[in-house]
Amino acid sequence: MRSTKIVATIGPASREPAVLERMIDAGLDIARLNFAHGSSEEHAETVSRIRAASARVGREVGVLQDVPGPKLRLGPVSGGHVELAADTPVVLTSQRLEGTTERLPIAWEGLSTLMQAGDVIYLADGAIRLRVREVSNGEVLADVEVGGTVASRQGMNLPNVNMTLPAVSEDDHRLIDDGIAMGVDIVALSFVRRREDLDPVRGQLRASGRGGVPLIAKIEKPQAAQNAAEIVDAADGIMVARGDLGIELPIEEVPLVQKRLLHLAGERSKPAITATQMLESMVHSTRPTRAEVTDVANAIFDGTDAVMLSQETAIGQDPVAVIAMMAAIAESTERELPYGRWLVERGIRSDDPASAIAYGAVGAVYQLGLKAIVAPTISGGTARLISANRPNVPVLALSPDRDVVRRCGLYWGVHPMLHADTEHTTELIDACAAAAIEAGVAGPGDRIGITAGLPAGHSGGTNMFKVHTLE
Ligand code: PGA
Ligand code: MN
Repeated sequence: MRSTKIVATIGPASREPAVLERMIDAGLDIARLNFAHGSSEEHAETVSRIRAASARVGREVGVLQDVPGPKLRLGPVSGGHVELAADTPVVLTSQRLEGTTERLPIAWEGLSTLMQAGDVIYLADGAIRLRVREVSNGEVLADVEVGGTVASRQGMNLPNVNMTLPAVSEDDHRLIDDGIAMGVDIVALSFVRRREDLDPVRGQLRASGRGGVPLIAKIEKPQAAQNAAEIVDAADGIMVARGDLGIELPIEEVPLVQKRLLHLAGERSKPAITATQMLESMVHSTRPTRAEVTDVANAIFDGTDAVMLSQETAIGQDPVAVIAMMAAIAESTERELPYGRWLVERGIRSDDPASAIAYGAVGAVYQLGLKAIVAPTISGGTARLISANRPNVPVLALSPDRDVVRRCGLYWGVHPMLHADTEHTTELIDACAAAAIEAGVAGPGDRIGITAGLPAGHSGGTNMFKVHTLE
């Protein structure tokens, strides 16, 4: 059973029910919907197609809503595309007009108050570089240093500017409300800068009765990389968003930042997703490059829980083949991971009984050769803690709550299953043993580990561990 989780962005190339079904069959764990594009009606339709496809395949898939946050964007440009030539001037204005090679609209009044002569502006995913010559009359006059084609509504990056835009805009709040109505399982917020940026989303989820929905902080600003420890503590997980990170930071720093972020998340038992351009060449090609395959494997060695696909599955020529390739790389890499070292590095951190049980359970796997850990979990918390210690055998997370089953799909090594609650200890142990056999992870004579919380029925109560020989 593969342990590394696969997050894939659903887009025009993957929205058809038959394609979704084959993607789930090939190993898709979490479907990501990028709310920076498309309408909420479209996303709602996609969610219902994902639910239907997952029911046909017989495996739960979590839906991750990716919220744009304070991402700067150009307005519309004439004809959809304009060409910016090197060594020509261009004006950025907050006026609402159709962009041309001379004037580009940007729907944010604050731009001219924050920019100074000499500042750099990136467009087109970092491909185009402008340098500010002067700011006057609320407009920014810049010179094109590296030219190229810009498209309507394309993103814009200001690496050295401390933006005053709110972390969560009215539009973001509306999108989150739409997501809640669609029943998304996980929410990710883009361009987080500090821990407080997460508060408005947390508040909104709680107020709508969805406080249990995990909130992922996308780390894609230099400030976020600096404040990573406090952000990891405040979030339920992070995404190493290498796309924008590679524009906002010198690109050569991305590998080190990735390693540091994955290490921080791991020692705090929070899941991490490594994102962007992992198998990029498969947008057009049937095979990835050697460098891409090695990058995916190295992210797994760095301790990522999940690897993410963006364009590859959203607009790529064969989303199913990309998932299959990702799964194959993960399975191969997992044969040789530093399992014991992770247990030592990540194990003894917090002082709550559930983490002690999680640490002990994974230690017992190695010491006794247990074939699996079965963990009944109400919130998913126990599964997350066990996962962080990286056992080299499957963790079956049993939950009576379908939402929890879906969100546990993000945790490395965790195989969530819907399972009715059991009140009595002996019944619980029998049910866990039966689940291990049913899942095919252990057979008669094998030993498994079972975690439990007594008295049964409340979250965060895991306080028991049993080594159990199957009959
Ligand atoms: P995006 O985030 O795809 O929403 O931009 C991921 C990244 O920046 O890497
Ligand atoms: Mn991004």
